[in-house]
Amino acid sequence: MKVTVWNENQHEKSIPKVCELYPGGIHAYIAGFLKADDVEVRTATLDDEECGLTDEVLRDTDVLIWWGHMAHNRVPDEIVERVKSYVLSGMGLVVLHSGHHSKIFKALMGTTCNLKWRDDARERVWTVAPNHPIAAGIPESFVLEPEEMYGEPFGIPEPQETVFMGWFNGGEVFRSGCTWVRGNGKIFYFQPGHETNPSFRNEHVQRIIKNGVRWACPVNKNIPLVCPHVEPVENV
Ligand code: ZN
Repeated sequence: MKVTVWNENQHEKSIPKVCELYPGGIHAYIAGFLKADDVEVRTATLDDEECGLTDEVLRDTDVLIWWGHMAHNRVPDEIVERVKSYVLSGMGLVVLHSGHHSKIFKALMGTTCNLKWRDDARERVWTVAPNHPIAAGIPESFVLEPEEMYGEPFGIPEPQETVFMGWFNGGEVFRSGCTWVRGNGKIFYFQPGHETNPSFRNEHVQRIIKNGVRWACPVNKNIPLVCPHVEPVENV
């Protein structure tokens, strides 16, 4: 399996705490815990040519992970269209935290993807679909502190499956782990992962992202999206 971890990599340049938590940047840190004998991982960032998301890279990617926050609008529309066509033709997509407002997630959802938010909260993540593949090895609930509160209403289309719910120390709740299928591509959104919080160092968060990548991995990728013209078959 080949995974590409995309990170806008902008907070890393101005907030020292991000690189203290995640040496080399969020993308490098995620790539580090994803690597396995059967998982090849590369990284790509906003400042790379074509955002690091060339046809060559995407054709060779089974699952793309997306972390972005302050620079969503700096991702060119043609790159977003390109990524979208790869998802529709079978590439898996795992969108993390503030990636909820990325152009690619909004394009695939077709809705605002708006939510409520508040810094420095405590979150209890509840596993609400314990037999889902993404919940493998995850306890009934676990706590992340601090983590940013994301609250309902979350402006998404009804998920195919809601695997995790977040509950916060302000009484708010949130659909923290959701799946959809768009075309031939599987999409998983997971809410924890604010840049100055240590959530990506949490063993359960790491396991959920690993599970999400395996769940989203296509059986067949690069499926043609154009309907071919065919001649009628005689003597049917
Ligand atoms: Zn955040």
